[in-house]
Amino acid sequence: MKRRNVLKVISSVLVFSITPVLPALAQSVPEFGLATLPQEHVHRVKMDGVEIIALHDGATRLPLHDRYVVNAPFDEVKKLASAQGLSTEYVELPFTAYLIVSGSRHILLDAGLGEFGSPRETTGKLVESLRLAGYKPEDIDTVLISHFHPDHISGLRNSDGDFVYPNAKVWVPAAEYDYWMSETNMQAAPQQRKGVFDLARRIFVGMPDDMLNKFEPGTEVAPGIFSKAAYGHTPGHTIYEVRSGAKSFYYIADMINVPAFFATHPEWMVASDIDPNRALKVRQEFLKVVDESNPLVGGFHFPFPGVGYLKAQSTGYQFHPVK
Ligand SMILES: [Zn+2]
Repeated sequence: MKRRNVLKVISSVLVFSITPVLPALAQSVPEFGLATLPQEHVHRVKMDGVEIIALHDGATRLPLHDRYVVNAPFDEVKKLASAQGLSTEYVELPFTAYLIVSGSRHILLDAGLGEFGSPRETTGKLVESLRLAGYKPEDIDTVLISHFHPDHISGLRNSDGDFVYPNAKVWVPAAEYDYWMSETNMQAAPQQRKGVFDLARRIFVGMPDDMLNKFEPGTEVAPGIFSKAAYGHTPGHTIYEVRSGAKSFYYIADMINVPAFFATHPEWMVASDIDPNRALKVRQEFLKVVDESNPLVGGFHFPFPGVGYLKAQSTGYQFHPVK
């Protein structure tokens, strides 16, 4: 396959998997202009003995269609968007990965879109952001993956197939790996999910054994970093708690999609959840933790800098980024 075709396939995978619209809708994705990128692409937060560095990977615009929220009337979704000054035509979807600097360790949480996002102009900024923060891809010793959707793993390899973080061990939840690498699951999957199966093969087939590390969530995957199963969004979706002293930062990946919608209404379900009911349960459990201990929280699709606090309000929660 020519490179251009590969990119085309992968960008359609992206549209399909982030907002799995009906194929007919996806074919006529209207043009909404380029996403607005933030001024800063790097944001550092000190938490006791560790540093959390939010690294912008870019943003894209996807149609706000009537199945973006699967269990709320479309009118209500649009009303909430306009009440918050957001477009009622499209969803602005940012991508943020996080670097944890702890002693001599450099641990990256998720790998972004790499060269495979759409549009190219506003995506795939992670390595650039990493360099702006003063680090090289070679400095990364660990990449912790939350799940296998394209915006989280595509950036592990470039278009030549080379590993972007050549010195890193890549930690993947075993349940996630087993689901997406299974031929049986691939055969049985709905058409719009097939691209993610292909992507998982592009990334993980041929990854050396001493690089790939499959693990059962619940374990400490790096000093002070604890993995927790948060299955639902995908079969092995996993979140990470970074502890230092008495403080915690939770990287929750896609447990809460864009907070303007899904923190305000934690009971709303996003179209890209594979098992929305399980995802909802996991989200409710996590919000109990938020109520009890008010940890720092970072989400992959939270507005940059993506790290801050979730505060209860009259309806659901509001995300307050830390400045
Ligand atoms: Zn996802």
